Amino acid sequence: MQITEHANLKQFNSFGMNVTSRYMVEVNSEEDVKELIASDLFKQNDHLILGGGSNVLLTDNFEGVVVRNVIAGREVVEENKDFVKVKFGSGENWHDCVLWTIENDWGGIENLSLIPGTIGAAPMQNIGAYGVEIKDVFEELSAIHLETGMTRIFRNNECEFGYRESVFKKELKGKYLITSVTLRLSKKPDINISYGAIAETLNSLNIADPTISDVSRAVIQIRQSKLPDPAEIGNAGSFFKNPTIPSQKFEDLKASYPNIPGYPQPNDQVKVPAGWLIENCGWKGKTIGEIGVHKNQALVLVNYGNGRGKDIENLSKEIRASVREKFGIELTPEVNII
Ligand SMILES: Cc1cc2nc3c(=O)[nH]c(=O)nc-3n(C[C@H](O)[C@H](O)[C@H](O)COP(=O)(O)OP(=O)(O)OC[C@H]3O[C@@H](n4cnc5c(N)ncnc54)[C@H](O)[C@@H]3O)c2cc1C
Repeated sequence: MQITEHANLKQFNSFGMNVTSRYMVEVNSEEDVKELIASDLFKQNDHLILGGGSNVLLTDNFEGVVVRNVIAGREVVEENKDFVKVKFGSGENWHDCVLWTIENDWGGIENLSLIPGTIGAAPMQNIGAYGVEIKDVFEELSAIHLETGMTRIFRNNECEFGYRESVFKKELKGKYLITSVTLRLSKKPDINISYGAIAETLNSLNIADPTISDVSRAVIQIRQSKLPDPAEIGNAGSFFKNPTIPSQKFEDLKASYPNIPGYPQPNDQVKVPAGWLIENCGWKGKTIGEIGVHKNQALVLVNYGNGRGKDIENLSKEIRASVREKFGIELTPEVNII
């Protein structure tokens, strides 16, 4: 276990916020986590778990212990002719693991290619893209309770997965450190290209009968053309969730805004793209000093270099207020504001 004092966190968060933490501890194993939890350093200070830092907005220096999770490991724990269950150390890089499963011809997470961050953070908000969410292949995870040091296994139904939600963002927020995640992957994968521009992209590549590797390549190509690369412009992907509203309210809005897009959901609800709402409030491409709203994707707030987390947070509040005023819709941040 390595402890650094006054650690600079700029390279550990994808917004590139130039803040420090009083202490930073790297954990490599469950034993490290248990040793840390039992220490006075941990008991006497606030703590923040960081994976890849790609879903956090750090608004200030952190006066406690940042726990950087680098627990590695990839192990097949069960296998038959149809599927394989793979247990991943929670500090493994998500996209590297996606590519590795594709090399092994195991399907299920190819649509989730190129999502930044770690395996351990993926269940936190039930990561999703292009018609797939981690819950679709999730078997179980192992987590350590941060007060008692006890290990608990959470099965799929115990994680209460929803749209960018899980029990770890609600009742159990801040209570556990996830140490491993087991996924059930298919040896006879169903290809899912119905969502977004995947089919179109495969067409343009002249691929009629795509493999999981082709789907991954198409997803990577689309994402690279649409989303800013955090290595070039600081960002945390979508800043807000797409709101869901009652269908009657959607119909009322459609009368005033005939182009408003909406996707029917269960229980007479409609999901509306937050990016469209923000763009139609005039925010797309707006720059305010060192920060702004991305020029191609209004859902992505950006740090051009020396922006401050507080300024991004204030900008997000202004955006929420204008969407509320114009459409009567409340936006909720997807990013964890610390
Ligand atoms: C360019 C870009 C594109 C993105 N696209 C998508 C997308 O398509 N779909 C999507 O769902 N998300 C997307 N994201 C968001 C982000 O990549 C995911 O949420 C990712 O899972 C975050 O992983 P991380 O390791 O960086 O988490 P972090 O940012 O380090 O942490 C996120 C939260 O989880 C907690 N946490 C992290 N690890 C653990 C652990 N082991 N145990 C307990 N708590 C933990 C942290 O305390 C924090 O609250 C995108 C982000 C970027 C920058």
